[in-house]
This record gives sequence, C-alpha cells and structure tokens, in this order.
Amino acid sequence: MRALYWFREDLRLQDNPALQACCETADEVVFAFVVPEGKKWSRSQERSGLHRRQFMWESLFALNASLEAHGNTLFVLEGDPVECISDWARESECDHIFSQTCHSHDEKETANRIAELMPHTCIEGNTLIHPSDLTFDLSDLPDVFSRFRNRVEKGGLKVREVQEGPKIPSLPSSIPRAKAFLVPSRKQAVSDKFLQFQGGESAGWKRLNHYFDSTRGLSTYKQTRNGLLGWDYSSKFSPWLAWGCLSSRSIYHAIRRYEEKFSANESTYWLIFELLWRDYFRFVSIQNGRNMWRSFGLKPDAPRISNHDEDRFQSWCAGLTKNDFVNANMHELRLTGFMSNRGRQNAASYAVHDLGLDWRICAAWFEYHLIDFDPCSNTGNWLYVAGLGNDPRPQRRFDVEWQANQYDPEGDFTRFWMEQGQDFPLESGGE
Ligand SMILES: Cc1cc2nc3c(=O)[nH]c(=O)nc-3n(C[C@H](O)[C@H](O)[C@H](O)COP(=O)(O)OP(=O)(O)OC[C@H]3O[C@@H](n4cnc5c(N)ncnc54)[C@H](O)[C@@H]3O)c2cc1C
Repeated sequence: MRALYWFREDLRLQDNPALQACCETADEVVFAFVVPEGKKWSRSQERSGLHRRQFMWESLFALNASLEAHGNTLFVLEGDPVECISDWARESECDHIFSQTCHSHDEKETANRIAELMPHTCIEGNTLIHPSDLTFDLSDLPDVFSRFRNRVEKGGLKVREVQEGPKIPSLPSSIPRAKAFLVPSRKQAVSDKFLQFQGGESAGWKRLNHYFDSTRGLSTYKQTRNGLLGWDYSSKFSPWLAWGCLSSRSIYHAIRRYEEKFSANESTYWLIFELLWRDYFRFVSIQNGRNMWRSFGLKPDAPRISNHDEDRFQSWCAGLTKNDFVNANMHELRLTGFMSNRGRQNAASYAVHDLGLDWRICAAWFEYHLIDFDPCSNTGNWLYVAGLGNDPRPQRRFDVEWQANQYDPEGDFTRFWMEQGQDFPLESGGE
C-alpha cells in the first residue's frame, strides 16, 4: 500500500500519532504540505504576515531535512488544499491519505471534502488529553474552564505517553524528488533587535531545554508569566505548538521529568494549567463549529455589534490610539509576530470595549501577524475577552491604565515599543 501523508499543524516526526499510524500501515509513503492560497484559507499566504510565513518556511525546511535524512522528501504544494492533496495523491498513485485531525471548523471541512474524493484517515494528536480519554461526552463540555479543569483533573490527569518517531520509509523510486526550496530571508532592519523565533522541531526542543534545564525558568513561571519584555518571562512555546513542531504531550512529560529532577511547585503545575486552556479552546471549537465565528459568538442574547468604525480600527492596528500601553503592544505584534498574553488581553479588551470594534476583524489582524496563530486559541480567547465566549462574567473589560501601572510600572516596555513603532511605522511597510 502507498499512502500520502499530509502534514498540517504537525510539523514534527516525534510524538505524532497520525504519522506513526501512516508509517506503520503503508509500505510506501509520500509526504506533502500545502501552503494554501486565497483569503478563504486560514494560514494562507494572503492571511499570513511576514513573521508567520518565515516561521512556517523554517519549520518546513527543518522537516524536509529530517525526511531527507531517511531517504524521503517533503513536497510543498501551493493552492487550494482540497485540489492539491487529492490531485497529488492520484498523481503519485497513493491509495490512502493520512493526516492529523484539526479542530477548527474550516480545517475540518477541508479534511471532509478530501475524504469525499479519496480514503482519508484523520488521527488525533494535537491535544494534551486525547478526546476519547475524556470522561464525558464533548456535547457535555462544561461551559466554564474551571469546571472543565476540575473534571479532567479529578482522579488524576490522564495524558498518554509520547511516541518515538516512526520508521520513515524512503521515497518510492518511481517518484521524482521534490524540488529544493529556500527559506525567505528576514527583513533584517526591522527584526534584528527583537525576539526572533526559529521554526522547526529541533529549534522547539532547544527552546524547551533552555527554559527548563538551562535557566530553570519553569520553576518561577507562575511569578513571571505576566511579564512583557524579553525571552524568559514565559515559555514562548506557542509558535512551536501552533505549527506542531512540539506536541503538548511532549511538553507535559518534559515538565514531569523536570519535576522529578528539580522539584515540583505551583509554577511547574501552572504551565500544565495553561496547556489545559489550550485543550479547552480546542474542545470548545469542536463543540461549536462555525458558530464560533458569529458576531455574538456563543452568546445569542448579546447585543449585536453595530458601530464598527474603520478609522478607529486603523488606529488600533497602527498603534496610534490614545493609549500608549496598547499602542506599544500593537507595535510589538506587527514588528515581531509575537505579543505577551498580558498584552493580548489588554489590546483585545481595548479594541472591543473601549473602541467598540467588531472582535472578528481584530481577531483577523491578530491572525495575520501572530507566529503562533491557532484558530481555536485565537477565536476562543477573543470571544472570552469580548464577553461572548466561555466566561461566567458578563463583562471582562480591562482597565488598561491600571494594567499599565501594574505590569509596566517604570514604563520600560511602553517606551521601548513606542520608539520602535516610530522608527518602523505601519505605512512604511514595517510588518
Ligand atoms: C486575544 C488573544 C488571542 C490569542 N491568540 C492566540 C493564538 O492565536 N495562538 C495561541 O497559541 N495563543 C493565543 N492566545 C493565548 C496566549 O496569549 C498565548 O498562548 C501565549 O501568550 C503564548 O506565549 P507563551 O508560549 O510564552 O505562553 P505561556 O504562558 O508560556 O503558556 C504555555 C502555553 O500554554 C498555552 N496557553 C497559554 N495561555 C493560553 C490561553 N489563554 N489560551 C490558549 N492557550 C494558552 C499556549 O500553548 C502556550 O504556549 C491568545 C490570547 C488572547 C488574549
């Protein structure tokens, strides 16, 4: 049997159950990834800014090198994913397609459409807790995170063991090798001084080893996680998780090893707590499908958004609002592709509650820029901040002045990013 393995949000060889199943089932495997084209696809070229595209290409480059080391190769296709995958499967004479299950509505739809054309097996691998290990049906998913956490932690969290990388078969001799591809170079002038994330599985592990063993940042995570400037106030695992260069399970088991080696404390637990938030938004997405993207989100009784104002939206994007703490965060996002969690909460709250903007267009701006863009986490968090998601509180408006005094008391963060924003304004093309 010859199979096509379609890499999606899982650009790694280790702990990849779908890849494992594919390599164990098929005698021959052809590997592909699609860079979607057109505004309709999430993560398409048109919906991705410079920084995310760069991270993606680096991750693909690293993945290709790993496959080449096994005598195989990665075919990078560009276009409509349904056409690209089904055409390439036929052309390369594959009988079956395998891929990792995606959880957002559009990505699931894409997988289903391919399954109408060819046998297509999707296998879970992107959550900490395997959906079938949940002790309740997803239709009974608690509508508040704390209740979800209590339920999954009751009797001990069940996280499956990680899988070693599978034996990768070499490329069938009848198929010509993929063309080599280049990683586009960064806009040096803009990004040299800032955080630069390197895509790829081994770069992800390097970051993990730095944060865990080298600096032991994990032991103080709970105290530092609301930081704004620098590399080590939080794990920075999100880009590697979003592209699947690291699995959530691998991080979990690395935390457990760390606890055995150095000791467990509330910080080591808190990183697991955050990974549960990530799972929660995935389960919320499975449960709500395309309803996630309604203007009133998951709250049909919420007032409809009626006063979206394009000028106010543009000022928010460009970091030109009346609030410099928000502006500084927006400059960081545009110039690096990253923003801290504290920054995201404030920028999002200000957009929705102070400027009265439609959360969807603002979420799309985040999508364009974030290296770690993840449809479930982005939409889930935007809904949460907008008060339209899984939140018992009716209003989650942040007092941004208070937040700036609390989290940036000396103004170092705001000063730094306001200066960078002036040096590289949006209209100059600084992404
Ligand atoms: C408006 C808004 C939009 C967001 N969009 C995204 C997104 O597109 N992609 C994304 O990965 N995260 C998103 N987040 C969540 C969070 O801000 C980032 O995961 C976090 O800042 C990434 O930095 P880190 O890896 O250092 O996080 P850490 O604090 O070190 O946390 C470790 C990991 O836990 C997970 N995590 C932490 N907080 C959250 C959360 N609130 N929701 C879901 N997962 C979480 C992430 O995978 C993260 O990498 C968003 C938050 C807000 C408020």
